[in-house]
Amino acid sequence: MSGQGPAPEKPIRLDRMNESGPLERLYRVQQFDLELDRLHDEELRVPDGLREAREEQERVNNDLEDAEIELEGVERSIRQLESDLASTRDQIARARSEQEKNAFDPKAQTQYQNRIQQLEDRVTETDEGLAPLYERRTTLEGRRGALRGQHGTLRPRIADLEQQDEARVEGLRAQGEGARREREEMVSALDSRLVKEYELIRRSKKGLGIVPVEAGRCTGCNMQLPVTVQQRVATGRLPAVKCPSCGRFLVKL
Ligand SMILES: [Zn+2]
Repeated sequence: MSGQGPAPEKPIRLDRMNESGPLERLYRVQQFDLELDRLHDEELRVPDGLREAREEQERVNNDLEDAEIELEGVERSIRQLESDLASTRDQIARARSEQEKNAFDPKAQTQYQNRIQQLEDRVTETDEGLAPLYERRTTLEGRRGALRGQHGTLRPRIADLEQQDEARVEGLRAQGEGARREREEMVSALDSRLVKEYELIRRSKKGLGIVPVEAGRCTGCNMQLPVTVQQRVATGRLPAVKCPSCGRFLVKL
């Protein structure tokens, strides 16, 4: 008998029964991938307390900004009206001194009197315009003070929560490091083209690249598999068999 012929049947070795084939190992790679996906999703899930505190901070910041913008506008209007008021009062003072200089002229007296009356009416109007602005300014200043207070209270609370969250993320990343190392080790023992194709399928299917066959069905898409496909999957050998319906690699566990 030449060395090229089929190897004689060997007795089944129990230790070999536990050795897994490439597809079973690929399936375990996927379990690491799913774990890494889960850790990644968890990392993105910001705790409610922090999310709410950030939202509150944003609301306070927006309200503070609104109050400051409005206050600026109110102060601008006040400055404008106060300057009008000062100039009207100057005009009144000048008109009065002119009136005194022309004390002998009754016609000029009447003219000055009318002029002064007009200016005084303008002072009254301006005062009336200023009153609600002063009131609004007081309200806005109070509001700004309260919001600054809230902002000051929130800041250390958020810093605390952010720090807790950093620790949380670091913990998840440390967990991920372990899974990633084990995955790499497992992948290094597998055919790189098989792994690459699995990764492509997994990406296109958004989750699973290899799925077990159970009761003759693909557990990825639930299709009843033809018996020939089931038989090829059962050998556990390469080339890997894909589900004719969803295109995922199939494995018999
Ligand atoms: Zn399928």
